[in-house]
Amino acid sequence: MNAQENTKTKLPEKKTEFKKLTDFEKYVIIQKGTERPFTGELYKTDKKGTYVCKQCGAALYKSDAKFDAQCGWPSFDDEIKGAVLKSLDADGRRTEITCANCGGHLGHVFYGEGFTQKNTRHCVNSISMEFIPAKDDKKDNKKGGQ
Ligand SMILES: [Zn+2]
Repeated sequence: MNAQENTKTKLPEKKTEFKKLTDFEKYVIIQKGTERPFTGELYKTDKKGTYVCKQCGAALYKSDAKFDAQCGWPSFDDEIKGAVLKSLDADGRRTEITCANCGGHLGHVFYGEGFTQKNTRHCVNSISMEFIPAKDDKKDNKKGGQ
């Protein structure tokens, strides 16, 4: 029994309630670690949907922005507006990306590599996110629009 859990009450899903993380999730999301390339379960996901923060559930990326950079991690060329914070990594070189809602570590963002027109690559740990498939995955007939 864990004494620290005694006061915890069940609340409806809210973005302020953080998910309990496994040791490896903590290693990446809290301690800013990096999962091994080509091991993340979302690396090859190409379905329509939304990628949300593993820890707090905030929407981070749309599947439309995902592309295969063959780098071993899920890659996106754009984030959902305001969902991702960028700051100088502790290594003083790279730009770290974190969840704007909970501060969880996501990965790094790189510019000027020429993968897509936006010339941006968010290199995100699969373990930092969860994928929520779009409900209308099969009947996406909308053309144009936004
Ligand atoms: Zn978060």
